[in-house]
This record gives sequence, structure tokens and C-alpha cells, in this order.
Amino acid sequence: EPEAGPAPVPRVKLVLLGDSGVGKSCLVLRYVRGQFDPNSKVTVGAAFMSHSVHLPDGTTVKFEIWDTAGQERYASLAPLYYRGASAAAVVYDITSKESFQKAKHWVSELQKNASGDIVIILVGNKTDLVELREVTPEDGQEYASRNDMLFIETSAKTAANVSEIFETVAKKLSGYQA
Ligand code: GDP
Ligand code: MG
Repeated sequence: EPEAGPAPVPRVKLVLLGDSGVGKSCLVLRYVRGQFDPNSKVTVGAAFMSHSVHLPDGTTVKFEIWDTAGQERYASLAPLYYRGASAAAVVYDITSKESFQKAKHWVSELQKNASGDIVIILVGNKTDLVELREVTPEDGQEYASRNDMLFIETSAKTAANVSEIFETVAKKLSGYQA
């Protein structure tokens, strides 16, 4: 019997989608670097950033997190962007109904063009702006459930639930049982 080596660490491409200004780049920087700069014109520079999630059952999932460099302003992202993605985080801003409509557009685009077994998490960002809320958590949850997606509300500003985006996706991908 050959001796078993360490289990390979699954590498997972996760793409961020959503309207410009919803906070995609801030979520990545908060998660990967633990920073939030309200004034920075966030530029991610690299095509993707890597970060690993360690689950309580010992499983490690290594994410390659792909952020757009502003291409989301144009009509559609090249399918090249989400080709080979195992997961997508579709982000909207809870203070903008319009961004929620745009998120639904990105979900249909993924349903048409991405891999059939892609794990999608719908992310309602900017929960710190409570008094400006236009999209209820129930609206988000209901849409996510109907489309077989995960759902979470976050704040890149306060860090609320940001790492949970990736943990939740990692658990779904690895078949983790709580
Ligand atoms: P992107 O275009 O989706 O990448 O959005 P950015 O990450 O560049 O963020 C757009 C704007 O929203 C910036 O002014 C950020 O400071 C702000 N922003 C991002 N996340 C949050 C958040 O959770 N709360 C608040 N209050 N502002 C945020
Ligand atoms: Mg950005």
C-alpha cells in the first residue's frame, strides 16, 4: 500500500459580480487584508487574490477571488471572467433597489452561461447604513431561496459577516455538515 500524502487542498475560483459601487472591492479588501478605506478608489491590481478558509472539520478551501477592474460598468462581463468559476458572490447594496435589480440580472447571466453546478451566494452589503435601507432581508432571502442560492447580509465597513461569505461557500462546496 502506498502511503497516502496529505489531502490536496481544493482550489476554488470565486468571482464577484454586481453593480458598480455596491462594495465588491471593499469586501475583498476587508476579507483578505482586514482593511476598509472609505476614501480610496479601490484598485485590486492583481487579477485575483488568494485566501484560504479552514473549516472546523479540518477541510481547507483555497479561494482565488476574482474582482472586476470596473468592467461591470459595461453591458456585460466577458464570460471569460466567470469561466471555470466554482462559486460566485452576487453583491447588491441594501440601500439601492436598483442594485438589487442588477443583481438579479447577474444571476440570470450566470444561470445562462456559467457552469451548471456553480455555487452562488447573494450578498446584501452596507448593512451599517440601516436608516437608508431600501431592500429588506426578506426580499433578499426570498429571491435567493427561489433560485437555489445562499444568502447573507454584510458590511465591508464594520466587517459584519464578511468572512462568513467565504465560510458559507466553502462549506457548501465541501459538503460540510455542521
Ligand atoms: P465596487 O464598485 O462594487 O467594487 O464598490 P467599492 O468597493 O469600490 O465601494 C463603492 C463605495 O461604497 C465606496 O465609497 C466604499 O467606501 C463604499 N462601501 C463599500 N462597502 C461599504 C459598506 O459596507 N458600508 C458603507 N457605508 N460603505 C461601503
Ligand atoms: Mg470594484
